[in-house]
Amino acid sequence: MISKAEIRGFDFHCHVDLHPDPVALISQCEHEGIVVLAVTTTPRAWHQNKLWASKSPYVHPAVGLHPEVVGECYSEVVLLEQLISQSRFVGEIGLDGSPQYQAFYEKQKEVFSRALEAAQKHGSRIVTIHSRRAVKDTIALIERHTTRTNVLCILHWFTGSIAEAQRAAQTGCYFSVNAAMLSHQRGRTLIRSIPRDRLLTETDAPFAKVNGRKSVPKDMPDVATELAVIYSEQVSETTTRLFSNARRVWQFAGLDIDQLLSAS
Ligand code: MN
Repeated sequence: MISKAEIRGFDFHCHVDLHPDPVALISQCEHEGIVVLAVTTTPRAWHQNKLWASKSPYVHPAVGLHPEVVGECYSEVVLLEQLISQSRFVGEIGLDGSPQYQAFYEKQKEVFSRALEAAQKHGSRIVTIHSRRAVKDTIALIERHTTRTNVLCILHWFTGSIAEAQRAAQTGCYFSVNAAMLSHQRGRTLIRSIPRDRLLTETDAPFAKVNGRKSVPKDMPDVATELAVIYSEQVSETTTRLFSNARRVWQFAGLDIDQLLSAS
């Protein structure tokens, strides 16, 4: 039996299926007590992700269609809509306004809108969202297609302005922050501007780096420690707040983290 005291942190955006050895990563999450939201980049990857996640109460699979691959995987939007009916966790979805993805930006908007509509229709959905160079449109589509009662949006690795972060917070969004965001002053200033009760932690593994190596879920307690420095408070205070935020978010999708682990 796993005691709830063994939970040491939360990774709200982790590409478990892109890790060289997902099974080893999952057992590391269990060993280190990190509860993970395992995102996917295409709906075709959902089935395998779900199989891996089924092996552990610590790992929760999300179905997504990453904006960077919408050009080649656009036709999978129908499958994405179908699978959102089965999954309370959705992601990675969103928009990317970088020049190399401009050619299919309108398609990105369509896919993102349809995913949000599906999440809204079924309700109790947690969505982890990419918004690089497209924050304004991302927030506009969240406002157009969802309500706070049905969909809880998490902006992952947010790189917009402080004003945009405030706008997103007013819309009801949460923010998952990673080690890379904490490594520069601009990121730390941005994080400080986010309402503390909307803050979550993530790795974006295997993409984000910390100290020259890839960040992994077991780094989450270190991220909490760095956040405590930003807030000039005791680590225990920051950790308690991060736990309370995380518990509230999982609960939105009907998942009681404490019960989940004590029942396993
Ligand atoms: Mn990602």
